[in-house]
Amino acid sequence: MLADLSRRLERFPRRVYSHAPTPLQPLPRFSAELAAQCPAGRGPEVWVKRDDMLGLFPGGNKTRKLEFLVADALAQGADTLVTCGAPQSNHCRITLSAAAHEGLECRFVIEERVPGSYHADAGGNHFLFRLMGVEAITVVPGGSDMAAAMAAVAADVARLGRKAYVIPGGGSNAVGGLGYVVCAQELQRQCDEQRLDFDAVVLGSGSSGTHGGLLAGFTALGVATPIVGIGVSRDPAQQEPLVFDEARAVLALLGDGGQGGTTLARGAVQCVGGYWQPKYSLPNAPMVEAVQWLARSEGLLLDPVYTGKAMAGLVGEARRGRWANADRVLFLHTGGLPAAFVYQDTLLAPPAR
Ligand SMILES: *Cc1c(COP(=O)(O)O)cnc(C)c1O
Repeated sequence: MLADLSRRLERFPRRVYSHAPTPLQPLPRFSAELAAQCPAGRGPEVWVKRDDMLGLFPGGNKTRKLEFLVADALAQGADTLVTCGAPQSNHCRITLSAAAHEGLECRFVIEERVPGSYHADAGGNHFLFRLMGVEAITVVPGGSDMAAAMAAVAADVARLGRKAYVIPGGGSNAVGGLGYVVCAQELQRQCDEQRLDFDAVVLGSGSSGTHGGLLAGFTALGVATPIVGIGVSRDPAQQEPLVFDEARAVLALLGDGGQGGTTLARGAVQCVGGYWQPKYSLPNAPMVEAVQWLARSEGLLLDPVYTGKAMAGLVGEARRGRWANADRVLFLHTGGLPAAFVYQDTLLAPPAR
């Protein structure tokens, strides 16, 4: 199955931005502390896959998607990458980093989902936008038609006699999702070599390319390990259909579902809600607890918008008895650290009671 999938992936142009594989690492102190809080003192052995150590430093899940998206842009003769995101977008930062690395220009459309939250001179990712030389940023109100706004930017670029390549938010389309098919393959090899197996993979589920791409990869490989997506902006009724569509689009692009004979069941898409509120990117107490806990028990740094809320979901589900003592659960660390530097006061707050 691995060899067959490799052959199918080879048909797509790819730029390589990382030293693979990213490490798999156990979290023994955190796991012991967590188990003590689980029913009957039985909690999961938690491991982490360090996709926060991908290339285009500081890398994250967008690095894997951009390996395929930027290769496609170059194949089409583009000289400018256009993409979009929220304020403090990790996806925008990593796209800009890829552009600089490839000698391309880069423009963003920023959706101000929380009114008044975009400050050009803020720290964190905004500092890095300026340091890496973004060519232009257009800020639009929350709820705007982002595809139309990016098309307008691409038209501006064309008027200069240049050629833009538009990357959707989060890099989540079928081409970007191939990056997480590669991750599925990489993880399968690591598990084979290290004789490890996991009872579940837990990840943050947002624009869906990570969750949908990994699920497509597992499906193509015949890996049945459940993937539990902790919604970072939507509850399951809205998030699961997005992930399902993304996974199917990736499988269709891979040429699977027909000759490969793999079909994706809607029930394979599992999301958990309740950890992202009050709103995407706004802090809550379980997120702060998770960020502080992993920092202090393991020296593992999480971010406030994605991995902090995803880990809060893992903690909450474990405390409710979802994983018994014998279970080994893998947390996918998708990056995002630069945003932590604009949430200092929140992340240093005393634990809520
Ligand atoms: C974008 C992002 C996610 C969510 O991934 P999607 O593919 O958009 O679902 C998770 N973690 C971090 C750090 C991110 O930047």
